Amino acid sequence: MALYTMKFGGTSVGSPEAIDQALTIIQRETQAGHRVVGIVSAMSGVTDSLLKTVKAAIQGDRWTFQEVNRDIRHRHEEATHRLIEPPPEREITLKKINDLLDEHLQLCEAITILGEATPRMIDAIVSFGERLSRRVVAAALDARGIPSQAFDGTQLIVTDNNYQDAEPLWEITSKQIKERLVPAIENGISPIITGFIGATPDGTITTLGRGGSDFSAAIIAAYIDSDELTIWTDVDGVMTTDPRIDKRAKVLPYVSYTEVGELAFYGAKVLHPKTVQPIIARNIPMRVRNTFNPEHPGTQIGADIVATSSVIKAVTSIRSISMLTVSGKGMLGVPGIAGRTFLATSRAGANILMISQSSSEQSFCFTVRDADANEVKYAVEDELRAEINHQDVDGVDILKEVVIVTVVGGGMRGTPGVAGRVFTTLGDHSINVISIAQGGSECSISFVIEEDALDEAVICLHDLALASVEDIN
Ligand code: ASP
Ligand code: MG
Repeated sequence: MALYTMKFGGTSVGSPEAIDQALTIIQRETQAGHRVVGIVSAMSGVTDSLLKTVKAAIQGDRWTFQEVNRDIRHRHEEATHRLIEPPPEREITLKKINDLLDEHLQLCEAITILGEATPRMIDAIVSFGERLSRRVVAAALDARGIPSQAFDGTQLIVTDNNYQDAEPLWEITSKQIKERLVPAIENGISPIITGFIGATPDGTITTLGRGGSDFSAAIIAAYIDSDELTIWTDVDGVMTTDPRIDKRAKVLPYVSYTEVGELAFYGAKVLHPKTVQPIIARNIPMRVRNTFNPEHPGTQIGADIVATSSVIKAVTSIRSISMLTVSGKGMLGVPGIAGRTFLATSRAGANILMISQSSSEQSFCFTVRDADANEVKYAVEDELRAEINHQDVDGVDILKEVVIVTVVGGGMRGTPGVAGRVFTTLGDHSINVISIAQGGSECSISFVIEEDALDEAVICLHDLALASVEDIN
């Protein structure tokens, strides 16, 4: 008897038909004698819609937030009518849905009166998506005769108060999961849990960042000591590249935790970047699979790195990036300038995606999202004001609308010539490389190029990744 943790993403619970499909997947395992813990996202599009209600509420646009609220109500009611029998159970679920959505309206009303929304209020509003979906899914599972109990992540995942991107407090989260969730599993119940949300120790709702349900599932899988974590989504697995850029993209049968972590960080949308953290130490096998094509084995993710002849397994890219360069003759050997720059960047609320410094130490560059670039420039110039006044530092230059392309392959460590092959390939296609960085894990190489060259760069490097798929099979 195995214990499986299964996370169902937004599209996997996005319609009555999808939920039905997800339930069949759970049922297949429970009928085979296994135990299943389900983590669910909000129905597809609902998180975005809820964010829209925040905006509308701030602007006093009652018509819009009421309209969106009606839409969300309708979708959940429809799913409840289609999936939940008998009528008394259906009525209970409908009542819960309506209570939650009434509460949503009240919060929007409060935001309208205040004319602003704090990150804490935004988290409270977006939490409704998962709190609604898990009620429908749990009751529908029960209706199929599989005893289920619904849990809110707020009861299990305890976090700091960094709203919209909260970090779990591991020890007490582990304690809550062991005390509250494990007994239910031992009693033969299939819990259905909200992804994405947690709560501070004093009970205020937080979220783990967009796409955070994967992370929730990994945390739970780790602390219940699951035999496998399956991320059920709407694609067959982790792809060699974005099929919208290159139609030849293939599903990788296997990737390592480090490789998939790198892929998630550098733009492949399959997984939340933090997902592998909790399960890596426990060596829990993970799989990405397609709810709508459950016969496909998906991508297996594990600790070992499989060597392939071309080493490179996947190519990803991130658009709308700015590269900032800090330069100056007086920087040579002056410690602390880079450190202060990165601190100022994080104070400005921006995430650094890639850093590179030349050995002359007269400049270094780093990349952030276009949307953050100006603010970061001002923050860094402010921090380095004294050095700029002394002309030790010239200032901060911005190069906008560039892209980062990353090639990922765990076998890079100790394999000479991989970088050579990558940059020769780019050179053969006359693609100009603006800046280069290799991840410390030696599992990826990233570089910055002009946006115009993106497709060609990805396609020519993807040849190397495609060759790897043959080797893994
Ligand atoms: N519903 C949340 C989002 O759309 C979390 C998730 O689905 O993982 O970001
Ligand atoms: Mg997702």
